[in-house]
Amino acid sequence: MTSAIIERARGEQRTLLTEPESKQLLEQAGIPTTGGTLVRSEDEAAAAADAVGYPVVLKIVSPDVVHKSDVGGVVVGIPDVAGARAAFRSINDAVRAAMPSARMDGVTVQRQAQPGVEVIMGMNRDPQFGPLLMFGLGGVLVELLEDVAFRLAPLTRRDADQMIREIKCLPVLTGFRGSPPADLEALRGMLLALSAFADGNPDVEQIDLNPVFAYPNGAVAVDARVVLSPG
Ligand code: ADP
Ligand code: MG
Repeated sequence: MTSAIIERARGEQRTLLTEPESKQLLEQAGIPTTGGTLVRSEDEAAAAADAVGYPVVLKIVSPDVVHKSDVGGVVVGIPDVAGARAAFRSINDAVRAAMPSARMDGVTVQRQAQPGVEVIMGMNRDPQFGPLLMFGLGGVLVELLEDVAFRLAPLTRRDADQMIREIKCLPVLTGFRGSPPADLEALRGMLLALSAFADGNPDVEQIDLNPVFAYPNGAVAVDARVVLSPG
């Protein structure tokens, strides 16, 4: 499978794809994301925010920034165009202060997803066994509980279902204390799409969807990172 996005990154000797690049690639593979428009000025940010509709989210795009919120690079809940302009400035200032040498590609403007149950999905390519898919609960809980499930690609529907159902915190997804159950079929579909994407793109070494918001109907990745092999 050839991809212009991967070729461009290779041409620039980059292995880390930015969030908008990662999301575009994954959207093509059938994985829903919150997308994003890359902007490079306050005026472009204002126009893109008006086009997306409020509330919007703005985030730094830099090949040198892996954890965007750690450096003040994420602003959520922006209610209007004045807020979008202010967020564009604050992100640039914060990232410049925290990482003066970081290259800045710009900022993405994306729709704000409704709150949902946070889960994570990922892939790490094992040199011997190939793509290893991961599924777990998101947020701080994932680090605390290490509540994750793994399977080797290619996943069958049954594998994906089992991954989802074997996490200890499954009740958080199936309806807990009156909360509505999450759409497990949508999550399964995303895992299967990730598996197929990993199989079809041997130079993709790692994928992180962190977090994915799961809903009673559907699910969406609000952050994505794709890493290419050094090759
Ligand atoms: P990073 O993981 O690099 O710090 P994220 O893109 O994951 O940055 O953003 C940090 C947090 O902000 C996310 O975990 C999520 O809670 C929230 N967030 C990010 N993008 C969106 C979005 N489009 N809609 C709603 N919430 C978002
Ligand atoms: Mg994230």
